Amino acid sequence: MKYVDEYRDQRAARTLADAIRRTVTRPWTLMEVCGGQTHGIVKFGIDTLLPDGVRLVHGPGCPVCVTPVELIDKAVALAQRPEAILCTFGDMMRVPGSAHDLLSVKAQGGDVRMVYSPLDAVTIARKNPDRSVVFFAVGFETTAPANALAVRQAARDNLGNFSILSAHVLVPPAMRAILSAEDCAVNGFLAAGHVCTVMGYREYEPIAQEFRTPIVVTGFEPVDILQGILLCVRQLEQGRATVANQYRRSVTREGNAAAQALIHEIFQASPRKWRGLGEIPDSGLALRPEYAAFDAEQRFGLAHLAAEESTRCISGDILRGLKRPNECPAFAVDCDPEHPLGAPMVSSEGACAAYYRYRRDEQPSAQVKG
Ligand code: SF4
Repeated sequence: MKYVDEYRDQRAARTLADAIRRTVTRPWTLMEVCGGQTHGIVKFGIDTLLPDGVRLVHGPGCPVCVTPVELIDKAVALAQRPEAILCTFGDMMRVPGSAHDLLSVKAQGGDVRMVYSPLDAVTIARKNPDRSVVFFAVGFETTAPANALAVRQAARDNLGNFSILSAHVLVPPAMRAILSAEDCAVNGFLAAGHVCTVMGYREYEPIAQEFRTPIVVTGFEPVDILQGILLCVRQLEQGRATVANQYRRSVTREGNAAAQALIHEIFQASPRKWRGLGEIPDSGLALRPEYAAFDAEQRFGLAHLAAEESTRCISGDILRGLKRPNECPAFAVDCDPEHPLGAPMVSSEGACAAYYRYRRDEQPSAQVKG
C-alpha cells in the first residue's frame, strides 16, 4: 500500500538504525508527544533497534490520557442528568472518573452515545429538540477544527440544545512545561506529524531555541520514527537545537491556514489542567465569549467541580517521561484493559495499553534518568 509499505521496509529501517548507532557517542533521552508514535515504537520494537545510550520516553501525546479526572467527573455528572444526551468518542467511555466511568452511567440508564464525529452530535441535537445534547470535545489541535465546525454549525442552525464540554489541549505549552520542570530528563522531542499538519511548526521554533532542545516533526511509521530519531540525535551530537521536519509529505511550516482560521474563529487559548502535569497556562481551548452559549460547563454550572487524581496510578510520571508503564506497581496486576485504574490503560493511544498489548511479559527497565 503506497505511503505505508515503503515506510515499513525492514532494510530501510535497519539502515537508519545503523546510522543512528554510528552517530551516537553519548546518552540521549528523546520524548515522543504522540500516542500513535508511542504505539508504533512499542509495536514494531523500534526502541530495541537503538543503541543503549538512546532512550525513548513517552510524553503527554494521548489526549484521552491527559484529560484530568475532574473533566471525566463533569462528563459523568452531565450524563446523569435525565434531560441530557452525552455524546463522546468510544475511547472516553471507560476512562475512570472519581466514582464512575461513562459506560457504567450508561448501564445505569444514562443516555451516553458513542459518535464518530462531532457533527453526529449536532445531528442528534437537531433530532431531539427537547433534550440537551453535549459533545465531550477531547483532543489536540488535530481534532479542534472538526469540533469548531460543529459549534459553528450549531450556531448557524440556532440549536439552543447543543453544547460542548471542552477538554481541548495544545501541544507546545505542554512541551514548555516538561522542559521547565526541575526533573526534566528530555534532551530532544519528536513532535506529532498530524498536529503539525494542522498547525505547522512555527510555534515550536522559539521552544527549540529557548530550551536548546531539538524538535523533529515526525510521522508514524517505523521508517518515519527512525528517521526522526536520526535527525534528532544528529542535532544533539552537533550541539544544534532547531526544528526539523521529517514528515514533509504532510507537514509545512505554516500548516493548514483554513483549519487554523476555523479554530481561532470559535476557540481561544485558556488555562487547562493536564493529568500529571497540573494546570498549564494557555494550554487549552475554550469557546470565545460570542460562543459561550455552547459551553456546557457554563450552561450546567459545572465549573466548581474538582477532583483529585488517583494515588495508585502513576500516569503523571509516565506522561512526564520519568517512568515507563511497566514500572508502575499496578501494571498488569491491578490494572489491565478490562479493569483500568487510569486513562493510559484504556485509550487506544495510551502508553500503558501499548505496553500491555506488546510488552506485558517483559521485565521493566531501570527507571529513566537524565
Ligand atoms: S498501569 Fe494503570 S495504574 Fe499504572 S500508570 Fe498505567 S494506567 Fe495508571
